[in-house]
Amino acid sequence: MDHTRARPLPDLDLAGRTALVTGAAGGIGRACALRLAGAGARVLAVDVDANGLAALRGEAEGVAGALEPRVLDLTDLDAAERLAAGTDVLVNNAGLQLVRPIEEFPPEVFTEVLTVMLQAPFRLLRGALPHMYRRGWGRVVNISSVHGLRASAYKSAYVAAKHGLEGLSKTAALEGAAHGVTSNCVCPGYVRTPLVERQIADQARAHGIPAERVVSDVLLADSAVKRLVEPAEVAEAVAYLCSPQASFVTGTSLVMDGGWTAH
Ligand code: NAD
Repeated sequence: MDHTRARPLPDLDLAGRTALVTGAAGGIGRACALRLAGAGARVLAVDVDANGLAALRGEAEGVAGALEPRVLDLTDLDAAERLAAGTDVLVNNAGLQLVRPIEEFPPEVFTEVLTVMLQAPFRLLRGALPHMYRRGWGRVVNISSVHGLRASAYKSAYVAAKHGLEGLSKTAALEGAAHGVTSNCVCPGYVRTPLVERQIADQARAHGIPAERVVSDVLLADSAVKRLVEPAEVAEAVAYLCSPQASFVTGTSLVMDGGWTAH
């Protein structure tokens, strides 16, 4: 089976809705932005990578909804909050990773990771929720990770941010329920994206093994299904959480980890 082309869910009609996807120039964000635009949403595609957004816009030609690139560094938290006004579907996806033992982990990188992956989602929620509450409908999907549920050595900032995001997501679910707003996390195992490709060399150094053994011995060591997840599969999980079938699903995490957390 070709997992890169998951068959789209029927019944997802986002015409008239505005979706904001952060990290839209990257692997998972790109797939989510295209999927939501394909369902008819107007998509604000947010990323610090202007070239990546321009390429994405080219790919989006011909899809049902409109895709509008917005170049923004999410560490500008005030700008992020302003940009989120008028959003019906918020996909908090932007992220970054550094693999380093705690005693060698640069404090400024720890702060940056927490800012992009936890503070920015909070500020985007602050910006988006008033409009969602007014319309009585909203979907918040937070791209967490297995690392929102489990830790791995050498990933202190990332694991801390993702665990925080899980808590923020549940709190938003409790506050939003009376207003027709759901909030959930999607927790993938390792996805075939540039973020994972970049960390292979880092992991090889940290674990003292050759790069070619990192995928099988480190990344997939705890996964019962021995392959990487495709970005299109993650985007389909996001689409499900935005669908009418998922209106009772809130405050939870859709784990797609190939059985990792079944251990
Ligand atoms: P990626 O590196 O391909 O994309 C991340 C995007 O975020 C990039 O386009 C980057 O420019 C953007 N970004 C980073 N810092 C930013 C900032 N300050 N302002 C604006 N944009 C910024 O990574 P990906 O693999 O697609 O990851 C997307 C999300 O999925 C992340 O939150 C990541 O933690 C999560 N995730 C990834 C995997 C995986 O295996 N790839 C697994 C589980 C969860």
